[in-house]
Amino acid sequence: MLKRSPTFESLIAELNKLPGIGRKSAERIAYHFVKASREEVMSLASALKAVKDNIISCSTCFNLAEKDPCPICEDPSRDAAQILVVEDAMDIAAFERAGVYKGRYHVLQGRIVPLKGITPEHLRIRELVERVRGGAVKEVILATDPDVEGDATALYISRLLSPLGVEITRIGLGIPMGGSLEYTDSITLEKALEGRKRF
Ligand SMILES: [Zn+2]
Repeated sequence: MLKRSPTFESLIAELNKLPGIGRKSAERIAYHFVKASREEVMSLASALKAVKDNIISCSTCFNLAEKDPCPICEDPSRDAAQILVVEDAMDIAAFERAGVYKGRYHVLQGRIVPLKGITPEHLRIRELVERVRGGAVKEVILATDPDVEGDATALYISRLLSPLGVEITRIGLGIPMGGSLEYTDSITLEKALEGRKRF
């Protein structure tokens, strides 16, 4: 029986590690691959390989891109005086889809979670401070998720940046507590950005 095949079981185990994929879905997808044509499966495999071969982090803002600097950092029409700080590159995608922001970004690559051992040193906070020290930045907009850890991360960063004489603002208005930016609709994002408040 296919279910007892080690090859099949290990595919299910790998799929089960993916975000949002439970054991049932993992089994369904695994069966799909068994039935699919060789071409279909190989094309997925090469797309996965290409992600690891081609996608890098921008060394300035840590956005995901195929070249360094990323197209946003390189775009002279984007306002270098504003930096919008987000937890993950997925959050940038949400703002870009909404088309409501014309400044630059900074990806923290996570948020401070002391219980999981994630301290400020694990995040791109030092690099953010360096960018602000560079002098061109006038406003830092903290757009970490509106929950306890996101708020704590924003507070930590605001304390680090406030001696540098830059304006520090926090978005969040309209985004439900515990909500995630990457799943927030365009209108809510726009309102959250417009309604940002001084820290
Ligand atoms: Zn960049």
